[in-house]
Amino acid sequence: MNERCVPINKGNYSMDTPEREARFHEYLGEAWPEGYKAYRRNWIEWARTQHVGDYPLLVDLELSSVCNLRCPMCYTISPEFRDNVDARVMDLALFKRVIDEIGGKVPAVRLSLRGESTVHPQFVDCVRYAKEHGIREVSTLTHGGGGAVAPLPPAPGARVRRGTGRDRVRPARCPWGP
Ligand code: SF4
Repeated sequence: MNERCVPINKGNYSMDTPEREARFHEYLGEAWPEGYKAYRRNWIEWARTQHVGDYPLLVDLELSSVCNLRCPMCYTISPEFRDNVDARVMDLALFKRVIDEIGGKVPAVRLSLRGESTVHPQFVDCVRYAKEHGIREVSTLTHGGGGAVAPLPPAPGARVRRGTGRDRVRPARCPWGP
């Protein structure tokens, strides 16, 4: 075992109580409790032991580099971003090809990097496809107002937790801007 200090999730801080934390993980993993525990354990152990699996534990897919908000501190509204990034939504066929390649091998995908994934017109189809093709955990970071969140797919194990903690979809508006 490598004894070096390996910072893990060093940018993540929880302000929840241990009970709420436990409930959160219970809900997230309720459709695959043992697999979920192993997945979370590997998230830490693989980093600590410098283990490289055949496939990563999570794949980030930038479903949309477009966002329908203009938060004043966001780099996506900068001239540099607009000039240099061909902001668009991911083609569904490409999304399916990626999922076909990693389904059943990669436990989790996150559908966001830059932009707002729920502006993708086929957001729900993407979630459903991933869930039905072997991706156990499908998550995204969202402001909750991209337009595609309301008709959430009733796929087994599908659960949505918005980063803001709000319990319903609100009209799109920047939480920090006017
Ligand atoms: S919601 Fe996120 S991606 Fe969209 S403008 Fe605001 S910070 Fe940027």
